[in-house]
Amino acid sequence: MEKLQVKEKEADVLLQKNSYLVGEVRYLTDAVQHLNQRAAELEADRQQAREKIRSLLNRRVPAVPPAKTVAKPSPDPAQLLQLGRLTRALNVSSKKLRATVQQALADMRKQLEQLKGSVGELARVEREGAAEVEELRSLYRREAAERKSLHNKVLELQGNIRVFCRCRRSDRASSCLETAGDQEVVLVQKGSKKKFQFDKVFTPSSSQEEVFSGMLPVITSCVDGYNVCVLAYGQTGSGKTYTMMGSKENPGVNIRSVRELLHICCECACFQMSMLEIYNETLKDLLTKSPNASLDIRVQGKSVAVPGLTQVQVQTEADILGVMEMGERNRKIASTKMNTQSSRSHLLVALEVEISDSVSGLTTRGTLTLCDLAGSERISKTEAEGQRLVEAAAINKSLTALGQVFGALKCNALHIPFRNSKLTHLLQPCLSGDAKCCVFVNVSPDVKDVVETLSTLQFGSTIRQVSLGRAAQNIGPARGGKTAK
Ligand code: ADP
Repeated sequence: MEKLQVKEKEADVLLQKNSYLVGEVRYLTDAVQHLNQRAAELEADRQQAREKIRSLLNRRVPAVPPAKTVAKPSPDPAQLLQLGRLTRALNVSSKKLRATVQQALADMRKQLEQLKGSVGELARVEREGAAEVEELRSLYRREAAERKSLHNKVLELQGNIRVFCRCRRSDRASSCLETAGDQEVVLVQKGSKKKFQFDKVFTPSSSQEEVFSGMLPVITSCVDGYNVCVLAYGQTGSGKTYTMMGSKENPGVNIRSVRELLHICCECACFQMSMLEIYNETLKDLLTKSPNASLDIRVQGKSVAVPGLTQVQVQTEADILGVMEMGERNRKIASTKMNTQSSRSHLLVALEVEISDSVSGLTTRGTLTLCDLAGSERISKTEAEGQRLVEAAAINKSLTALGQVFGALKCNALHIPFRNSKLTHLLQPCLSGDAKCCVFVNVSPDVKDVVETLSTLQFGSTIRQVSLGRAAQNIGPARGGKTAK
């Protein structure tokens, strides 16, 4: 990359030199023309002077003297002498001038030849430079493709679905969770212990930064053109929103992912953002002024789209945070109006990333979907009535569907029941062969939550055994550019 930039700079210098020399040639050609013109003028002057002298001499010696007429006064000898001197002087200066012009012309011809030679040399260097730049470009393309492929292989080896367990912080002295190493968590229930393995276990003291570092590689995958999703699963109060959104002082995965994306992409990326909520199996656009418009899911080839969903173009971290805040505000307003809690709906923030690489001429498109799921807790039969019952049934349906999708993926079933719920249908592109997925199972260490914690850990360890199919990047031609091989 550095070599390429140096070559491009050298080519610029050569081009500047070239245009300077072309200017010089033009200037010298003009000068030659001017001198030629001057020489022609002098020649004309000389001819004129000669004519004049000749006519004076003719007047001095008349061919036939007139017979009777009064004799004309003979020319003044002094005048004649002066004219003779003038003629000689003119002849001498004309010769000198001719010699000077000829010398100047010869010099200029020589210089022109030299200039032609150096222009030819410059053109050759430019051609060679362009060829070298093209060679470096293709080397860069090859190396970038290789880097992407290696990064992807590493992720495939680790598993395209990575499951992390995060234990919430608690003030209570007693805990139903014990950690053993950074990949194992032990649940203690009525004296018996159950072990669960995860790709990584984050303890109550793990920082937001540590938690984010676990999913950093998938952000690179998103930039490489893969669909990536991050899910937070767990009962209400287990720390899902803290993990995803975090606080202003201690931001979570959402904001850190955005920062990382912006950091990797520089100015060459274009971001489109959307935010929606799934409540009682209906989709709500959180970025619209008319939230009541009904939205539905449409399948478009291999992708899933929500026609009419507001897409906001964002460029900076401030833009993205502003849009997230607006979505959160709209979500709160909607939940207050319906007298419900935000934990009873799924929140999906999607960021479409399109990156145009000016060096390789390729464009990659990836999507990052950040999903804070509704609380996974079971509602007791006595508690569930009216609106709560409908909400609970909808959440149960979608989380069960999510479990079924993972179950089908785990046993490589021919049919994956993505369409069993709005949530799984929307997440289909992030859970199919070409995607990367990170699941945070958030658990509470409180003894009173042990049943829900057990259920969440079981859900997490089932997902962990799932491996998605071979990945395929979403790389396409840049507008007016080339296609990746
Ligand atoms: P959920 O989204 O699962 O309902 P929250 O993220 O809202 O749960 O967490 C419940 C409470 O616990 C919040 O006040 C949150 O700030 C706090 N909390 C959760 N996890 C942590 C943590 N790891 N460290 C400190 N506070 C936490």
